[in-house]
Amino acid sequence: MEYDLRKYILTTDGLSKKYRGFTALQDVSIHIPKGSVYCLIGRNGAGKTTLLRLVCGLQKPTAGSYSLFGRPYGDRDIYKSRRRMGTMIGQPALYPSMTAAENLQIQYRMLGMPSFRDIPELLALVGLENTKGLRVQTFSMGMKQRLGIALALAGSPDLLILDEPTAGLDPLGIIELRELLLKLNRERQTTLLIASHLLSELPRLATHYGFLEKGRLLRELDAHSLEEGCRKCISLTVSNSSAVCALLDDRKLSYRILSDTDLEIYSPITVTELVQALAATDIHILSVSQREEGLENYLLNLVEIGASGYGTEK
Ligand code: ATP
Repeated sequence: MEYDLRKYILTTDGLSKKYRGFTALQDVSIHIPKGSVYCLIGRNGAGKTTLLRLVCGLQKPTAGSYSLFGRPYGDRDIYKSRRRMGTMIGQPALYPSMTAAENLQIQYRMLGMPSFRDIPELLALVGLENTKGLRVQTFSMGMKQRLGIALALAGSPDLLILDEPTAGLDPLGIIELRELLLKLNRERQTTLLIASHLLSELPRLATHYGFLEKGRLLRELDAHSLEEGCRKCISLTVSNSSAVCALLDDRKLSYRILSDTDLEIYSPITVTELVQALAATDIHILSVSQREEGLENYLLNLVEIGASGYGTEK
C-alpha cells in the first residue's frame, strides 16, 4: 500500500532488530499520523520497547529504516526532529530528594531552555500544581508517573512517546493518566505513541492501532476500522436450529450451529431483519441477543491468524 508520507509524523519501513541470534523485531512498518493517539499493542516480549528504543535513537536497527518529522534515519539533522519529541521509556528518572519543580528545572537546563517561566503551567497540566515544598520521595506512584510525563513534555514536543505508562498505577491513577493524555492530544494537538498491553485500559484512547506479536506487526488499522472489524454476533435459540440454516444459506450469512436449538450468526444482518425473516416461517424463536467482540478477542483472533499471514489495513 502507498502511504502519503506528509501525513505522518513517524513512519518505520521494514524495521528489524536482532540481539545476537534473537530477532526481537522483524520487518515492522508502522505509520503514525499527525495528531493521532497511536497505541502499539502487544503482549510481554512482543517487541514494543525495542521499537520505541529504535525510533528514539537509543539503539540502532539491524535492518530497515524510519522517518521522523520527514527526516529519514541516517540524516545528519535527525537530531532536529528528535528535539520535537518527548519520551518516557521505563521508570522516569527522578531526583527523589527534590520537588517536582526542581526536577523540571534540571530537565529544562539539560535541554538548554532559556527560562523556567512555564514550569508552573506544566505542573498544572499534569495535576501537580499543589505539590510546592513536597519532595518527590513522598509522591504516590501516579504522581511520579505524571511528573515523568511532565519531564517528557519539557520543550513542548509535538510527539510524546510513552512506554507502558500505566505500569504500577492503581485504577484511579490510570483514569487520571488517561484524562491527562486526552487533554494533551486534544488541547495541545500532541501526537501520542503509547506502547501498551490490553489490560491497561489505555488502548481505549487510541485513534490508531498497531498490533505486535513476537516481533512482527500483525496489523495496523484505525479505530473506525477496528470497530467494524470487531465482529458482531447474534446468538439465537430456536425450536430447531437446522431449520434456520436454509434461510441463512439463502442470504449467504456465516453462522455456527452450537446445538439442536442454539446457533450464532455473524453480520451483516440486524436482529430486526432476522426476527422478521424467521416470523415468515414456522420456526419458534426462544431467545435472541447480540454481542460484540471486544478488543481482547480481536487481538486473540489476530494472533491466531498471525500464524498463517500478516497484513496491514487502513
Ligand atoms: P514488555 O511488555 O515485557 O516490556 P515488549 O513488547 O516491550 O515487552 P521488548 O522489551 O521489546 O518487548 O523485548 C522483545 C524481546 O527482545 C524479548 O524477548 C526480550 O527478551 C528481547 N530483548 C530485549 N532487549 C534485549 C537485549 N538487550 N538483549 C537481548 N534480548 C533482548
